[in-house]
Amino acid sequence: MRPAVFFDRDGVLNEDDGYTFDPNEVRWVDGARQAVKAVNDAGYFAFVVTNQSGIARGFYEERHVRSLHEWMSRELAIVGAHVDAFEFCPHHPEGLIEQYRVLCNCRKPRPGMIKALLERYPVDIGASFMIGDKQSDLAAAQAAGIAAYLFDGANLHAFIAPLLKYQSPGPHRTDTAG
Ligand SMILES: [Mg+2]
Ligand SMILES: [Zn+2]
Repeated sequence: MRPAVFFDRDGVLNEDDGYTFDPNEVRWVDGARQAVKAVNDAGYFAFVVTNQSGIARGFYEERHVRSLHEWMSRELAIVGAHVDAFEFCPHHPEGLIEQYRVLCNCRKPRPGMIKALLERYPVDIGASFMIGDKQSDLAAAQAAGIAAYLFDGANLHAFIAPLLKYQSPGPHRTDTAG
């Protein structure tokens, strides 16, 4: 078991310019890529949980979100960082696209995306936390039973570094239990 950091995407990893789906328009938040690397290096899972109601609203499609996340993964790989899983909610109760016009369990502040990840990965819930820029992010984390912090919008690496308290056992630890 390892703890996890759940990142909101828009306003945390990339600047929230409203319904971003084109990689050419993505502006990384200062320190965001370094923050993901720090999370990786500390032995936490790095997850992204993002509401993408732009799909329900007909602004873009699921494939655009997936390809944006692939692009983000390539950008992260340049600095030796990676996201273990991206989860997105395509729904909105007032969406234009009928198949996505539902009151779902995954749209934050509901905890469905976090809970889905907790079912798929061996996560130490007590040492895990969420980073969001809205109260709905914090509410989703709270509903899933994990801690959460409201990002101040400055430098994500500086914000997250003091929160990474988990000590990865690592490959060189001497076991005295013999
Ligand atoms: Mg956000
Ligand atoms: Zn949903």
